[in-house]
Amino acid sequence: METFNATAVPSMDSYAHLVQLAHQNPNLSSFENLWEAYYAYWNNDIIATGVITFIAHELIYFGRCLPWIIADAMPGTFTRWKIQDHKAPPSVATQWNCTKYILAIHFIIELPLIVLFHPLMDICGLHYTAPFPGLKTLAAQLAVFFLVEDTYHYWLHRAFHWGPLYRAVHRIHHQYATPFGLTAEYASPWETLLLGLGTICPPLIMGYVTGNVHLVTVLVWMGLRQVQAIDSHSGYDFPWSLRRIFPFWGGADWHDDHHRYFVGNYSSSFKHWDILMGTVAGPKNGREKKRRD
Ligand SMILES: [Zn+2]
Ligand SMILES: [Zn+2]
Repeated sequence: METFNATAVPSMDSYAHLVQLAHQNPNLSSFENLWEAYYAYWNNDIIATGVITFIAHELIYFGRCLPWIIADAMPGTFTRWKIQDHKAPPSVATQWNCTKYILAIHFIIELPLIVLFHPLMDICGLHYTAPFPGLKTLAAQLAVFFLVEDTYHYWLHRAFHWGPLYRAVHRIHHQYATPFGLTAEYASPWETLLLGLGTICPPLIMGYVTGNVHLVTVLVWMGLRQVQAIDSHSGYDFPWSLRRIFPFWGGADWHDDHHRYFVGNYSSSFKHWDILMGTVAGPKNGREKKRRD
């Protein structure tokens, strides 16, 4: 594999020079060349991975929340698709308070974990240099990550609803019985850490076992997992929502019932664990409890 010669490039290169470098290796795509130039630019792989992962995380989180914030600001247009349409949309003050808490969680809890990711990736033998994985490999690994995370999430989330664990860990996430996009990561630091293991560990374990997992796959996985979590807290169910195409996909309709009825619908992405274990939420299933505030 031909790799980029980092020592030949000044560490603080200009953007124009980086763009020029994006065409230097004809065996790689422009994006792959840029990726190599980016790592050369930092001249420190831990910082390079940390910066791109954290910036991607923030852009995807708040970028994906933005359409839901706009929808909440235009109730006349979007209420017909709101799941709990009898409830008022969150106020600006509520959304701002939630944003401040999310930023604190991102900088205090998630940023150190993100910086730790590169050393963990090295230990587990994940790749981060070009070339990037093929689309088939990417799709197959993403499917495995979604299924494994969903299983981990189902059982841990169900355990979080056991009285002592609920009071100690999970109560913060249930502060909003009518969720909105920003509440996806509104949770205690312990919950962020423990549930986050379900996102971080599958690629590390697969990388260790197969020796064939790339950082780009991990970034795509983390991005899709964030989008899934934000969308499932959006409070909106559209005629074009993914659950209408894939019947086993949960989505907002599914997770909204978890916040509304408090019992059942513990999984993150899919419905099969709740159906198999008889924990589907809703009054028609006899699963409705008062919140343990
Ligand atoms: Zn819960
Ligand atoms: Zn939730």
